[in-house]
Amino acid sequence: MFIKKQRLLTPGPTPLYPPALHAMMASDIHHRTEDFRKAYRSCLADLKEVMGTSHDVLMFAASGTGAMDASVSNLFSRGDKVIVCVAGKFGERWAEIAKAYGLDANVITVPYGQVVSPAQVEAALQAEPATKGVFVQASETSTGAAHNVEAMGKAIAKTGAIFIVDAITGLGTMPLDIDNWGLDVVIGGSQKAFMIPPGLAFMSVSPKAWKLAETSTLPHFYFNLKKEKKSGDAGESSWTPATSLILALAEALKYVKQIGMADLVGNAQLLALAMRTAAQKLGLELFAAGSPGSSVTAIKAPAGLDSGIIVKEFRSRFGSIIANGQGSMKGQIFRVAHLGYFDFADLFALIAGLEIILNANGHTVPYGSGVAAAQEIYANAAIPAAAVK
Ligand SMILES: *Cc1c(COP(=O)(O)O)cnc(C)c1O
Repeated sequence: MFIKKQRLLTPGPTPLYPPALHAMMASDIHHRTEDFRKAYRSCLADLKEVMGTSHDVLMFAASGTGAMDASVSNLFSRGDKVIVCVAGKFGERWAEIAKAYGLDANVITVPYGQVVSPAQVEAALQAEPATKGVFVQASETSTGAAHNVEAMGKAIAKTGAIFIVDAITGLGTMPLDIDNWGLDVVIGGSQKAFMIPPGLAFMSVSPKAWKLAETSTLPHFYFNLKKEKKSGDAGESSWTPATSLILALAEALKYVKQIGMADLVGNAQLLALAMRTAAQKLGLELFAAGSPGSSVTAIKAPAGLDSGIIVKEFRSRFGSIIANGQGSMKGQIFRVAHLGYFDFADLFALIAGLEIILNANGHTVPYGSGVAAAQEIYANAAIPAAAVK
């Protein structure tokens, strides 16, 4: 009876920026031509600019995990001592990659919803001065928590270890001062705050990390950082690039530069604040209440209600796709995203839908109370009149 527009409200893939989507139609282009080199070069330069780093930036035709894999296989050797911070499913992925390549990993695990503290990392570094690398998620998308990578980075910078940060949902949702915080390797992915489909991974590499690449003996072929750097300097990728995605990225990065990375981060942060406030108003508990990030908000389903029902009803009633919990969090929490091409109109609609779903499932809330909480956050954000065009 009702029209339902499909809305992607998940923390990857995220809603697509329409001009980037349209740019993909021009992919009848050859990648070893000056026209394409121009687009490739502009992507690398713009990535560097929006990431705010002087480090080299490389790109791969892969989902984010490809770059995670590459950072291990290109910078380490079998038996190297590393520290892996595990606060959720993506931290577990770091631990699995380290294991797959035979690294000697000290895995610091905290319960889902919590974060590894900088003090824990410092203590582990002191206990093992031969540590060569520390792995973390800036934003742990599975729980909604954000790590204090600034404090961690500054502590790690004093040691011989490099700091490898999975910022796949951290980029564009939290400040990341790559050069000054000692973030040696920072990884991003196209389908998160960059507003384009999955298939591209990015990575910044510091001089300290490049040094480690000189001594690494792990086998690798497709993901070759040194080769990719050389190719990138020539405006090319080592292998056939994901041409359509590069064209989309060039367009999306123009938009990110236009609004500014700080405002993209600010947008996600304000949406996240509004979502948290609305959730609490609706009597819902936040999952990562101690250190919530702004890429995604994880909310506990009310007692007795499977979060899968909320996810299902968002889809069947409103065509909206939100995320369930992963692993043991499945059925317990639901997650709504704020990163990239999300705005307040999306959020108002989402909260209104949530109120309907909660009421339909025995969790009675006054209609409009969550929406009003979000409206107030918006109204009080002191957006200068000049910015309201
Ligand atoms: C999405 C995501 C990844 C990458 O997953 P892919 O499926 O390989 O793109 C890695 N880490 C975090 C924190 C993520 O959110």
